[in-house]
Amino acid sequence: MTGQDPIPAVQIDTTRPHPARMYDWYLGGKDNYPVDEAMGRQMLTLDPRVPVMARVNRAFMHRATRWLAGNGVRQFLDIGTGIPTEPNLHQVAQEIAPDARVVYCDNDPIVLAHAAALLRGTDDGATEYLQADVRDPDAILEGARKALDFTRPVALSLIALLHFVSDEDGAHDLVRRLLAELPSGSYLVISHATADFTPEESKAATEKLRAAGVTLALRSREEFTRFFDGLDLVEPRVEVPHRWHPELGEPVPGQDDGVIPGYGAVARKP
Ligand code: SAH
Repeated sequence: MTGQDPIPAVQIDTTRPHPARMYDWYLGGKDNYPVDEAMGRQMLTLDPRVPVMARVNRAFMHRATRWLAGNGVRQFLDIGTGIPTEPNLHQVAQEIAPDARVVYCDNDPIVLAHAAALLRGTDDGATEYLQADVRDPDAILEGARKALDFTRPVALSLIALLHFVSDEDGAHDLVRRLLAELPSGSYLVISHATADFTPEESKAATEKLRAAGVTLALRSREEFTRFFDGLDLVEPRVEVPHRWHPELGEPVPGQDDGVIPGYGAVARKP
């Protein structure tokens, strides 16, 4: 869809929690339902730092996008976009590069319902929204090609997405498939939750979410790093998100080495 399209009527399932809406609740947004808040509160009983982790993750997205735009990237494919929260990726990129083009993609109908906020970009740049599932990379590539020039570098941005994609669904292969279509000089950006720092809380959270129908595939540092096989990791390589180029943004209140949402990294396709 484009900025001119009417807001679509979509089916929102309010009987079970959805990751996009729980994340919106952690960030203090209004686009969530009692079922999301209830599960969010259960997560807080396991670890009260979850809302800070959500902000730390969001701030990583801002800094990684600034770094990419600052290093000449003008096209972004962001899968697992989430409910709009300002600044969104296109606003961060277009502040540095007004001609930046961004294709957003999410599989949750609530993100589609709010997509209009993602489509207000600069006149020079362009934004586009695709309703699609990362487990169907061909559909995403087909849609993205309409708005992006695949002969020029693209940053594939998978921020806090892949821990919702299981190994059974082939998370690593899906990333490889998407990258295979992008030219040399493209980038892969990932942030991802892990159980490495809080094994017990993470196990309890995974079980609670599974019981509510949400898959959580936490990955170790080694499993995370494998997403970047064959790519050149940008310094500081694999880091906890708040330590990845902190000079490119402001610290999140409450962030410290005891509040770690997972790993973050950026890598270039040779
Ligand atoms: N990237 C944003 C939002 C992260 S929340 C940020 O970091 O701020 C995770 C998002 O991934 C949610 O919006 C959820 O709907 C989406 N998502 C989960 N599974 C998905 C799938 N299989 N395909 C596409 N999007 C998915």
